[in-house]
Amino acid sequence: MQITLFRVTRRHVTHDHVTHYHVTRLKGSVAVLRIGVLLGDDIGLEVVPEAVKVMKAAAAKSGLQVEWKELPIGKRGHELHGHTMPQVTVEALEEMDGFLCGPIGHGAYPRNDPTWIMPPLRKRLDLYASIKPVKSYPNIPSVHKNVDIVFLREVTEGMQSSDTVVAGAGEFRPNDEITIAQRVITRAGSRRVAREAFEIARTRPRRSVTSVHKEPVYRLACGMFAEECRKLAKEYPDVKLEEVLVDGFAMKLVMKPQQFDVVVTTNQFGDILTDEGAGVVGGLGLAPGLCVGERLAMSQATHGSAPDIAGKNIANPYALIMSGQMLFEWLGRKRDEPKATQAARRIDAAVDRVIADAKHLTADLGGKASTTEMGDAVAAAVLQGMTNEKRES
Ligand code: ATP
Repeated sequence: MQITLFRVTRRHVTHDHVTHYHVTRLKGSVAVLRIGVLLGDDIGLEVVPEAVKVMKAAAAKSGLQVEWKELPIGKRGHELHGHTMPQVTVEALEEMDGFLCGPIGHGAYPRNDPTWIMPPLRKRLDLYASIKPVKSYPNIPSVHKNVDIVFLREVTEGMQSSDTVVAGAGEFRPNDEITIAQRVITRAGSRRVAREAFEIARTRPRRSVTSVHKEPVYRLACGMFAEECRKLAKEYPDVKLEEVLVDGFAMKLVMKPQQFDVVVTTNQFGDILTDEGAGVVGGLGLAPGLCVGERLAMSQATHGSAPDIAGKNIANPYALIMSGQMLFEWLGRKRDEPKATQAARRIDAAVDRVIADAKHLTADLGGKASTTEMGDAVAAAVLQGMTNEKRES
């Protein structure tokens, strides 16, 4: 008979009286995290394994136990189960603590075939916030230096009809001269993304949240989002809240991005501003991401599946490696698992070192290394290295 033990941690009761419990599987008395690995298509087959390699090194070095489970998605999902988002994969993901998802090559999928779709994982798993760090490195060409921002974009509401509508359409055209589009904003949706922003700000030295909206024009929709951010700020007296209107924010982000720490905004504004942020620090190759829900998170880089360079072992694995780093950091915080936090810090420090050494960088970062050589260098730096925390003290 197999006995599985769980550790249940009561984390907090929110002001709307929702109690959050975290459940972690235990082996003996040691917590075990379950992480899914979805390779995706094209360069996903190359960059995801590098992220896993680095995460395994960091987990081993930190004494963190992880069970890894590869699950089919995209073309491989179709090959095995006749669908790019197989039901077996979705069901298995619901049992995971988090997963890595490589980019999907949906551009090459057959049209008008319901079995060939861009897998709607965010919607299906209710991953409501997209977290995107925007960080500059001294020796990587960028518009600005000393930038270290974390963006949180609400991704289940707003103007995107694919996120807000389960039947019918979010846009309609009553006659050929008029089109009407809707925007959905809810108190609960605004509150949960804002809470995540305040929680993240608490872990950072500047402890500052900027709420970006346009309340003077969109009085009800942006107004509701802004109000919820203000209410939550009262629960986090140690974190400073400032509010910036979206147009002014777009300008400040280009002119003086160093002034921002954690930025939280609604879906459409976030879609635009996170790309602008990536541009400020060096582009797509340096844009990691984590989509989070109440109990599950997905590491996903901003870049696509880049079929033009697939199979050549030249893709930059940075974004996927740092997306994995974010997953460990999030699990450390959500599951009260200091070993996961430590593993995240080790990866962060190792990536800093490999970039500063500039000996094992891929071509898009000005180097000559292959995808695997850069991944190997980061994994080796993890195994040799110290955490950023230790280096700073
Ligand atoms: P999608 O529509 O799937 O989001 P996209 O059309 O925006 O994709 P990408 O697949 O992201 O485009 O590729 C855009 C360009 O950036 C391509 O020339 C590609 O080779 C390059 N690129 C993307 N990701 C990487 C990477 N990890 N390393 C190096 N180059 C990359």
